Amino acid sequence: MKTLIRNGLVLLRDGSGWRCEKSDVLIDETRIASVAPSLAAEGASVIDAAGKLVMPGLINAHTHAYMTIHRNYADDLAFFDWLDKVQRVEDGMTEEDIYWSTLLGVIEMLKTGTTCFVDMTIKSAQEKTGPRSAAAGAVLASGIRAVISRGLAGVSDSEESIMKFGQTVREMDLFAGESRLQFMHGPHAPYSCMADYLQKLTRSCKERGIGQTIHLSESRAEMDSMEKEKGATPIQYVDAQGVFDVPVIAAHCVYATDDDIRLMAAKRVSVAINPKSNMKLGNGFAPVRKFLDAGVNVCLGTDGCGSNNCLNMFQEMNAAALVYKGAARQAQCVGAADVLNMATVNGAKAIGRAGELGELRAGALADLILIDLNVPQFIPANNVISGLVYSSNGSEVDTVIVDGRVLMRGRRLTTIDEEEVYRECRAITERLHMAQTEKI
Ligand SMILES: [Zn+2]
Repeated sequence: MKTLIRNGLVLLRDGSGWRCEKSDVLIDETRIASVAPSLAAEGASVIDAAGKLVMPGLINAHTHAYMTIHRNYADDLAFFDWLDKVQRVEDGMTEEDIYWSTLLGVIEMLKTGTTCFVDMTIKSAQEKTGPRSAAAGAVLASGIRAVISRGLAGVSDSEESIMKFGQTVREMDLFAGESRLQFMHGPHAPYSCMADYLQKLTRSCKERGIGQTIHLSESRAEMDSMEKEKGATPIQYVDAQGVFDVPVIAAHCVYATDDDIRLMAAKRVSVAINPKSNMKLGNGFAPVRKFLDAGVNVCLGTDGCGSNNCLNMFQEMNAAALVYKGAARQAQCVGAADVLNMATVNGAKAIGRAGELGELRAGALADLILIDLNVPQFIPANNVISGLVYSSNGSEVDTVIVDGRVLMRGRRLTTIDEEEVYRECRAITERLHMAQTEKI
């Protein structure tokens, strides 16, 4: 099946950066066959992109889509109080709850231009054919692309850990070969995951040829407790356990020291910054300019709805372009193109898909979005890249294509019954969140 996107302004990238060109894009099955003016393809379905920007779909490099039902639930709390409050609800979540909550997150992500997300979830799907199989089931049902990790904590040899590890690798085996699904291990954090567990997960990564994602140096309290208990920064501590010997996406890294940054650059660790979550939880600002100067691959994530409270990557790009300037008192600290890189090509690199995702070129996977430029926030069209980062709010996303399949057209989703998802999520909230509120 071929799809021809005609008459659009196409956002392209080469060695010198981003540029826009009037062009057509031809999709053949799951990949982009050609990007060139005046293309023709017999039998192709045609999308008229006149007045629209055709650009790569955004990659959310760190989120917890299962937490979408926590939206507006645990606000204005200190980090560990917040964590405690949401975890009490999560104890009651079933695999099916995770499916619906993830799907709610996917609706929001698709409607705001995200075509791929790196997820850390809390339960692994144990039945591939089950209609409501946790996060993996939601990804397959919706048509979005994702890298799923299961957040694991504790020690490696407890009965519970052995069971959870078994479930995690079983899910990886069950869904092996699904083109839109990748897996990583997800050790939650150095303060929640003991050394032997970090080592075990890293060994498993090596055996399976996969990476891992972990929260690192997110809060001042984490820094203080790791310094006191381990005598090292969280980043140096996990490196000593061998965690960086496989590809890693390290979320947050707000308190990374200069030595940490040098270490991460040397070990080719990708950092997923989450500016809105870090501000909301009062954690501060990651040293983004230092990461970029050291050559660290910096990508962008929203974190979960429990701490953001939305999964809108346009909002996140906007925040990233503003807050680090403000924190550094330096307008050149992070530019619009830097931020667009974080949300596209850098995210692709972090998940091992450089050249295949995050940019529009022949041979790349057909994950792309169409942005309506006929809206006040893009007029006048002085600089489209600035528009995407500084004035867009995500509502301009008109069409979303993932793996060559149209998942949204004219802002209508083609694979998800939105009302059903909203109904299910309201029922879950009534059962889980309101029960907690009554206990208090
Ligand atoms: Zn997180």
